[in-house]
Amino acid sequence: AYDFSDRIERVAPSATLAISNLAAEKEAEGADIVDLSVGEPDFDTPDNIVEAGKEALDAGHTGYTSSNGIPPLKEAIAEKLRGTGVDADADEVIVTPGGKQALYETFQTLIDEGDEVVLLDPAWVSYEAMTKLAGGDLSRVDLAPHGFQLEPALDELTETVSDDTELLVVNSPSNPTGAVFSEAALEGVRDLAVDHDISVISDEIYERIVYDAEHVSLASLDGMSDRTITVNGFSKAYSMTGWRLGYIHAKGDFVGEAGKLHSHSVSCAVNFVQHAGVEALSNTDESVEEMRQAFAKRRDLLVDLFDEHGVDVDVGDGAFYMMIPVDDSEVQGTSDASGDEPRADDQAWCEAAIEEASVACVPGSAFNAPGYARISYAASAERLREAVDRLVANDLL
Ligand code: PLP
Repeated sequence: AYDFSDRIERVAPSATLAISNLAAEKEAEGADIVDLSVGEPDFDTPDNIVEAGKEALDAGHTGYTSSNGIPPLKEAIAEKLRGTGVDADADEVIVTPGGKQALYETFQTLIDEGDEVVLLDPAWVSYEAMTKLAGGDLSRVDLAPHGFQLEPALDELTETVSDDTELLVVNSPSNPTGAVFSEAALEGVRDLAVDHDISVISDEIYERIVYDAEHVSLASLDGMSDRTITVNGFSKAYSMTGWRLGYIHAKGDFVGEAGKLHSHSVSCAVNFVQHAGVEALSNTDESVEEMRQAFAKRRDLLVDLFDEHGVDVDVGDGAFYMMIPVDDSEVQGTSDASGDEPRADDQAWCEAAIEEASVACVPGSAFNAPGYARISYAASAERLREAVDRLVANDLL
């Protein structure tokens, strides 16, 4: 038998996978599932990006690149960051195969056994796993009682962080809530980070998908330039999930240190994909705007539909997710397959949603927010209407 590492045994498989596996199984059996559990835009990658990728392949860009990325892409990323007020230079960038790898490398670079990492709940699933893989200890601040906003939770954050805190993770716009944190909230984070000498990850992967709010890059605030690790990626803004492209930006020694892990693990991001990334950053504003407007319409549609059925939602101003409060009265007492533990109510609700209404959503517990379900509105208006109709017909709303 294998003797698994403590590190790997500390981590559970992604709770979101349970639902998507179930949805896939049911679809394979011929069921018509409205899948609102997905974390990817439902648009094709814009043509100009696809063409740039093909041209790069034809031009023979198929070998390794320098580990941290091709110079034109690092330069385009630095320029993009400077556009949002971040003091950035091309040699402070590592191009990674996806934002997830960028985050993984960041946790591994900063966190030692026992270091404290602070998360703002509901938090994207992988921050917890990445903390545990690095040996860190979690402290959490719950934004759910504050309509998922950070500003009203700053007092709690102040009580939570201390000189022992190593790292704080900020994700605005947020997955799973869609919340966009105000500039005042980010200034609050800045004050605490400076006071207690804390490094902050700013995961800005949904930055281009904002509605009635403005995205502020944390590293652009006074005092944050030298303590922020900005992580971003191409998956969401440019509908490029399967291309696997993202990046890290940080000042000082960070890139040198994280670059060691990068060079010993992935070597580099895919060569021709990096060339497509240059095109994405240079020439794709129109497509990004079209997708943003499509998401905005769907968000408004969903809010209206939920409103009609008396479901009160704290709607965010970004990303393509919302968290709806779920009532488990229809499904109370459901227990897991082994029968020995009662399920968190949101898990029972999500199971009923897929089993009875053929609608897939992710239980809030996956994000440390029991009592909610995450709905992704990366789906057509018709499918969104269908989903709400089915949930209503099955007494789940
Ligand atoms: N960060 C957040 C908050 C996300 O939701 C995701 C994807 O779901 C990622 C990072 C990673 O995305 P990717 O690795 O596709 O760039």
